[in-house]
Amino acid sequence: MNTKILRNLAFTIFTCYATAAVSETPHWSHDEQSTWWAIQDATQNVPLNYPFGACGIGKHQSPIDLASATINDTKPLNKLAALYDTDTTPTFFNSGHGVQVNTSENYAGALMIGEESFPLIQFHFHEPSEHVVEGKNFPAELHYVHINEDGRIIVLAVAVDIGEENPIFGTILDNTPHEERSKNVSAGIQINPAQLLPADLNPANLDYYTLAGSLTTPPCSEGVQWYLLPKVITVSAAQLEQLKGFYTSNARVAQDLNGRSLLSTH
Ligand SMILES: [Zn+2]
Repeated sequence: MNTKILRNLAFTIFTCYATAAVSETPHWSHDEQSTWWAIQDATQNVPLNYPFGACGIGKHQSPIDLASATINDTKPLNKLAALYDTDTTPTFFNSGHGVQVNTSENYAGALMIGEESFPLIQFHFHEPSEHVVEGKNFPAELHYVHINEDGRIIVLAVAVDIGEENPIFGTILDNTPHEERSKNVSAGIQINPAQLLPADLNPANLDYYTLAGSLTTPPCSEGVQWYLLPKVITVSAAQLEQLKGFYTSNARVAQDLNGRSLLSTH
C-alpha cells in the first residue's frame, strides 16, 4: 500500500466522518460507550449491520488498568525508537471526538520496533487518560498512531499530568479549529512530535510496557499493539482547561484483560 492509501485508511478508521466514496460509519459518542457494540448500520445486511461488534465481544480490548495486569520483564524485547522529526505542514484536525494532528503526506517520522518501521500518521489526545492505574486516571493521555505497509497499527501512549506549561501542546491547541470535523493547515506552523515525548527519556531507546489491544474508539478493531511509556509529560492546568474546551470525557473505560499480561523492558 502506498502512503496515500494508508492515510485514507487511517482517516476512515479514526473518524466517523465519511466521504461519498465510502459507506458512512454510524455516529457514535463516548457517552454511550457501553453500547457501542449494539450500534446498527442500517445500510448493511447481516452480519455487517453491527460494524462495532468488536467493542462488545472482543477479548483483547483497550485500554486497560495497568495495576490489574501481571508484568513480565524477563522476555527479551525489541528496541523501541521514536524517530520523529519536524513536520513542516501538519494538519490540525478536530476529529469530532478529539484534538488531533495529522502528519503530512511526505512526513518521514516513524516508530522503529527492532528493524521494523511504522510511519507516524497522526497523534491525538484523550481527557482524562484511557489507561488507568488502580482505577485512577491521569488528567489526559497522548496517543501516537502508526500504520505500516501491511496495515498493522501501533499506538505509543504517554500519560499527561498537570505541571509545567507545554509549548508544543499550546501550539496544537491554538491551531485546532473548534468546529467538529474541520481541519487547519496553517502555512508556517511546524510541529516536531518528538517534543511531546517525556524529556527524561532517550527517544532512540525507550523503556516501555507493551500488550496486544485494540482501537479505543469504534470500530474497536483488535490487532493493535500498544506501547506505553513509564514516564509522563506535563501540561499546565490552564492548558488542560483549554483541551476540555474542545472535548471532555473522551476516554474509554478500562477493559477486561482476559488473561493478557504486560511485557516490560525494565
Ligand atoms: Zn486514542
